[in-house]
Amino acid sequence: MRDRIIGAGFSALGATGLHRWAAPRFRGLGAILMFHHVRPGVSRAFDPNGMLEITPAFLDAALTRVRALGYRMLSIDQAVDELRAGGTAGAPPFAVLTFDDGYRDNLVHALPVLEKHRAPFTVYVTSGFADRTARLWWVELEEAVRRGSRVALQLDGETLSLPAGTAAEKRAAFKAVYWPLRGGAEDRLLAAVGALAQGQGIDGRGLVEDRCMDWPEIESLARHPLATIGAHTLTHPRLARLDIADMRTELGAAKTILEERLGRPVVHLAYPVGDPGSAGRREFDAAKAFGYASAVTTRPGLVHAGHAAHLTALPRVSVNGLWQDLRHFEVLLSGAAFALWNRGRRVNVA
Ligand SMILES: [Zn+2]
Repeated sequence: MRDRIIGAGFSALGATGLHRWAAPRFRGLGAILMFHHVRPGVSRAFDPNGMLEITPAFLDAALTRVRALGYRMLSIDQAVDELRAGGTAGAPPFAVLTFDDGYRDNLVHALPVLEKHRAPFTVYVTSGFADRTARLWWVELEEAVRRGSRVALQLDGETLSLPAGTAAEKRAAFKAVYWPLRGGAEDRLLAAVGALAQGQGIDGRGLVEDRCMDWPEIESLARHPLATIGAHTLTHPRLARLDIADMRTELGAAKTILEERLGRPVVHLAYPVGDPGSAGRREFDAAKAFGYASAVTTRPGLVHAGHAAHLTALPRVSVNGLWQDLRHFEVLLSGAAFALWNRGRRVNVA
């Protein structure tokens, strides 16, 4: 419902053209766009992770629009250099393309589109997905709810038992399990989702093998002239939920492992999940201390000159699979919506 109201607001704003008038004022130096899966669409009534997936056709259309609006497509290195230099006077805004997690469809479906547009891009790789040791817990949860006609779970000594026969029940059950787990500790989340997945005979490792690039694929992508490989931790935890030693290992060891594998420095990072409950001041400072030149969150926003002092707390624009709509996308890029969401604050790094 909330999504539908926001969507209607975007359409109304798009129809007025007001965002075009607002853009020069709000759009800042540029935008870091966030993508996850890029693959041909399968329409499903129960699709709780659908926001993390766009089609190659929409990626193509979005990049065509980015170019038509006059954006310069920069690599993350170029954008960081510009930010450090205080922007390039009179230059049109930049767009940086980023893909999280290291999905194989980035190589198969996104790369041909990126090549067509000669667009530099960054893929943030979770080394544990390449090693097949980390877990795509949100996909395990989706599959468990898809298969079961009931979702039964022990959580903090209480038994949850929810109907999941219809698509509407599955959506409700997914939310009822997902949000309480997202709000708590990482171990608790992994144990609860693991038990649910096991109960439905789901092979968690198989899901990772199926979706995520292995090391040879990552190494070949890293050699592509348009590609930058960034880090996305060892196991994809919500870092702010970890004790400080584990958090530091996730940031430091991920960098070292990627650098050894790829034979080059890895200086860009994306925080897993990336909302304020997953990455805050402690993580921003740690990323800087480990020598990351930039780190991106999932906090919504555009990049402004003030971010030069906060290069390990950069906001992004999520290209959301639930709204694969160019008018909506253009409204996002204009920055008018973010100015409202962030209540006029251009830099949100607390
Ligand atoms: Zn991720």
